[in-house]
Amino acid sequence: MTNAAPTMKPWIEAMHAYVPGKAKADGVPVVAKLSSNENPWGPSPMAVAAMQAVLAEGHRYPDPASTALRAALGAKYGVDPAHIICGTGSDEILHMIASAFAGPGDEIIHVRHGFAVYEGATRRVGATPVVVPDVDYTADVGAVLAAVTPATRIIYLANPNNPTGTLLPAADIRRLIAGLPTNVILVLDCAYAEFVEGDYEDGLALAQTLPNLIVTRTFSKIHGLAAQRIGWAVAPLAIIAALDRVRGPFNVTTTGQAAAVASLADDAHIDMVRSETIRLREWLAGEIASLGNAGLRAIPSAANFILVEFPEDGPITAAACNEWLLEHGIICRYLAVQNMPRTLRISIGTETETRTVAAALRDFVEGAA
Ligand SMILES: *Cc1c(COP(=O)(O)O)cnc(C)c1O
Repeated sequence: MTNAAPTMKPWIEAMHAYVPGKAKADGVPVVAKLSSNENPWGPSPMAVAAMQAVLAEGHRYPDPASTALRAALGAKYGVDPAHIICGTGSDEILHMIASAFAGPGDEIIHVRHGFAVYEGATRRVGATPVVVPDVDYTADVGAVLAAVTPATRIIYLANPNNPTGTLLPAADIRRLIAGLPTNVILVLDCAYAEFVEGDYEDGLALAQTLPNLIVTRTFSKIHGLAAQRIGWAVAPLAIIAALDRVRGPFNVTTTGQAAAVASLADDAHIDMVRSETIRLREWLAGEIASLGNAGLRAIPSAANFILVEFPEDGPITAAACNEWLLEHGIICRYLAVQNMPRTLRISIGTETETRTVAAALRDFVEGAA
């Protein structure tokens, strides 16, 4: 017998819990929540109807294989459904990949300004995170390849990237794939693929032919179904078989599967979200550029948000701007939690929300100057 307390594994002790985007502005009514890259127009009405239609089935477990959803995804994207796996958000898939392919002593690479979940997925399995420097908030393919060692198991790379919004052109992605040993998995996280215009390698065809490429996608962003937690991935069959061993058996809810299938059929809604997001993103980037002599810089974005870099000190800092916005009920993502204290990430909202945040940024800059 011992009175000792249970002890965490040392690699869990080295982690901290995920810090989500703020949902409340203390004591002030929320005017615009622009902190989590959600689609502000919400899901397709067809997806809402599809969820309502299955609510009375709530006593039955969901289809464990997400069969109809995988078939619908396969038809839409020209992918064999056998190469598709669904997850409780793509977050679950990112975690499954680490559980199946890495552990203590293994290295997992992500870039300096990468998605916060990658470090958590790495540490949770006891693997060692290897962080590769960026060039001006953009992944550097040469540096990523140079970081590969015999201990490397996985590389997590988001394209477009979050929280920076930056995009690697197709040639860079192909150069990365071509330079990797085939036993190193490249996880191409394409959560924002639908917002990209022009030159883009979505990886969906390659992930069916190469032995070591996994592409992850989500219904949380353009489809406006973040609350339902639906992600999917395309991968080689041997990797699908490994992921199927570690995934939760009933990991996608019945409402989630139904909503996703319906949303895939509503092109008009998705096209509206895409075109409005891109239009407002470019408009907001222009507004921020017009404040340029205050030292603000909008990093060019291919996603549904903009990363804004502020001067390091003086009256106009990201921290002071974040406080100002919160006082006015506008919630953005201040990235000090990610060791980026000079930056604020602003999700694209509706026209009203986007104009509101632009006006508030201008008021802040003019008031501080
Ligand atoms: C939002 C996001 C996801 C999606 O997460 P879900 O679990 O599907 O909601 C994945 N990767 C990146 C880079 C993201 O920004």
